[in-house]
Amino acid sequence: MKIFDLKNQYKEFGHIIDKDILNILSSGNYILGENVKRFEELSRNFLNSKYTVSCNSGTDALVLSLRALGIGSGDTVITTPFTYFATAEAISLVGASPIFADVNPHTFNINPKRIVKLITRKTKAVLSVNLFGQAAELGEINKICKSYSLHHIEDCAQSFGASFKNKQTGTYGDMGCFSFFPTKNLGCFGDGGLICMKNKKYYELILKLRTHGGIKRNQHDLIGYNSRLDEIQAAILNVKINYVKSFIRKRKQIAGIYNKNIKNDSIILPYTHKDANHSFNQYTLRVKNRKKLEMYLSKNKIPYGIYYSSPIYNYNAYKNKGYKPLPMAEKVSKECLSLPIYPELPIKHVKNICNILNKYNG
Ligand SMILES: *Cc1c(COP(=O)(O)O)cnc(C)c1O
Repeated sequence: MKIFDLKNQYKEFGHIIDKDILNILSSGNYILGENVKRFEELSRNFLNSKYTVSCNSGTDALVLSLRALGIGSGDTVITTPFTYFATAEAISLVGASPIFADVNPHTFNINPKRIVKLITRKTKAVLSVNLFGQAAELGEINKICKSYSLHHIEDCAQSFGASFKNKQTGTYGDMGCFSFFPTKNLGCFGDGGLICMKNKKYYELILKLRTHGGIKRNQHDLIGYNSRLDEIQAAILNVKINYVKSFIRKRKQIAGIYNKNIKNDSIILPYTHKDANHSFNQYTLRVKNRKKLEMYLSKNKIPYGIYYSSPIYNYNAYKNKGYKPLPMAEKVSKECLSLPIYPELPIKHVKNICNILNKYNG
């Protein structure tokens, strides 16, 4: 057993995907072609979004979004410190500064009440993250952004297919940024990303930013990026997007078994907000003495992951920039532990993990 198993997913779709990939190889058309166009259309329909633009990665999706909103040097963006590094990194990459708001320890997501206190004249946007596949309090965050005239960008790298009040994550903010890194709920066999938005002006700007600041040959209106999705990755996504709902159903089934069968007073199970349809990219527990549980799981050959062992402001890249520790982010980063969860994980392994956890003396 592993913490994730990517080879198994290839086994299921390989026969369809191999054929599509060979067709692309012999077509001579490798970048921004028919398959990319098709994927942008399929994802637009899936998300029920007005526009989508594919790009090279989830990180680039964030960078392109921030740039399209005109965020840069001298600006600040409020975000969560308990997320993958790329969330804050993207803010710094456009020349702005991340300001960290503490999290809700039950959902692991940004606490909307903490956002308001941090807004200054420099604040341009809130970058929320739907962590582990669970929507942040998107309605509440939208309200705050509206009343303070801030942009709202959603980092949906872990939440493709998750919804909040029956609306897809990514469609609440001005922009929704997705990653198709192989371990995400919808993953390709390499790097890939997508931005969804409702505003035509941002759509047209992002199209330009994606290809060196212009879409016509010999015309460059802006300093942009090279951030294209390639045809092979798009073809893979065009097959897998048809299965993503069943992938999420299996993830939710596994989470349901963990929720029902883990009975141990020293373990706090993940909490799902009443309005969130959690897509369980991760199943993350909290435990007081994590080191002890880690040793116990290793002894019993149960794989696990620590997402994330530190709030972002403690990493070397941000350490000496004057950030103050935030109590809930500190607490959850010391207590979190993620169990294996992926569509191909056999149910008997899930039940075995529950039994082993129930015998743990914390
Ligand atoms: C994976 C991830 C990213 C970055 O996506 P890439 O495609 O790897 O660049 C950004 N934010 C979060 C929360 C992620 O989990």
